[in-house]
Amino acid sequence: MSSILLKNATAVHLFPPTIERVDLRIQSGQIVARGQELIPEPNEQVEELNGRFVLPGLVNAHTHLYSALARGMPWPQDAPKNFFEILQKVWWKLDRALDEESIYYSALIGALEAVKAGTTTLIDHHASPNHIAGSLKIIREALEQIGVRGVLCYEVTDRNGENGRDLGLRENQIFLENHTNAQFRGLVGAHASFTLSDHALRACAELARQYDCGVHIHLAEDHCDAEISRRDYGRSDIVKRLAEMEMLSAKTILAHGIYLSEDDLRLIKQRRCWLMHNARSNMNNGVGYAPAQNFGERVSLGTDGFPADMFEETRLAFFKGCDAKNGLGPRDYLKFLNGGHQLCSELFGATLGKISPGAVADLIFLDYPAPTPLTNENLAGHFLFGMKSEHVNDVMIAGKFVLRQKKWPGIAMENIYQKSREVAAKLWERLRNMP
Ligand SMILES: [Zn+2]
Repeated sequence: MSSILLKNATAVHLFPPTIERVDLRIQSGQIVARGQELIPEPNEQVEELNGRFVLPGLVNAHTHLYSALARGMPWPQDAPKNFFEILQKVWWKLDRALDEESIYYSALIGALEAVKAGTTTLIDHHASPNHIAGSLKIIREALEQIGVRGVLCYEVTDRNGENGRDLGLRENQIFLENHTNAQFRGLVGAHASFTLSDHALRACAELARQYDCGVHIHLAEDHCDAEISRRDYGRSDIVKRLAEMEMLSAKTILAHGIYLSEDDLRLIKQRRCWLMHNARSNMNNGVGYAPAQNFGERVSLGTDGFPADMFEETRLAFFKGCDAKNGLGPRDYLKFLNGGHQLCSELFGATLGKISPGAVADLIFLDYPAPTPLTNENLAGHFLFGMKSEHVNDVMIAGKFVLRQKKWPGIAMENIYQKSREVAAKLWERLRNMP
């Protein structure tokens, strides 16, 4: 059996933060040995790391790959004035303009940029109302080409009528039925309380029960979630509403969570749901400060459609927290990143985020020239103020190098970017003509 011996790695655990000089043996996609002075086996590939940093591959725990081709896209003439208008005038137009080709290239570019930045697992939330059937399979194929791990779902909503809602449910079901394996997992995607009728919420919860998975939904991203839910469905208590629809479980992912009361947070913690903090997106949309310091133990970070650079995301979340005087320190943010590993360990039924025997070999290799001493105590400081995605040179996913010295073995990168620019130009043209 082919195996790789990594000699003299500086192995980094994010939480609790630790560093140690070790050798690691990788076999069949897993770390099988960790120790000092491991002896090479016959025919083993030996890599001398000379103390390079080896970290667990990072997790982007809430994102929208479909926005990867939005970079530089035309902005509405009549600029949006609030979050709901941002959805109406920007994102709900973009998602309607997506076709098979643009779904594929969005996912491909999103996956490439993720891996380049050291992100090895993407938890995606997809919407393409005019191309629903088969969309998750397209995303899966793009992610497979790059080799990144994915947790996929389709966004069920009532905003595109009953037919759109039912096609969305069906798309989740088909993916859960046919397309999950060691590299992919499915969830039931749901937009948010304010675009989901009781009927749709119940159908999502029922599907999640049927496939023993969670629901992935936006929650209290803006005060409009409660306000429109009251106007359209007679309920402003959106957390209770989701609980009554039996959507809140230990497998449920709730994104944003900005406008939550103490009672809401108590209920969410009681049900052991996962809360995603999306600090950069919250700033970008001007929706307010998420009380991440009160989110509890089951928390992680997501870029919500921005490129999956979790070094940058973590840094921005930290600064946003300082600005909000939320009392969190650098270590707390590494704990959030580690939450993504814990969540994925639960989703995949495997150990992610550990550099120890039995863990999956999703590893990133950094050439980080530390200008000051680096210890267990100050690792979080180095992570936030020094380490960057540009230090990521190699990426291994499931024991296989997908990025080597910043190069992609077997992938013609120039062609992909050339083609994605063409696909994006066509997408924007459709977007300009969208009513
Ligand atoms: Zn989102």
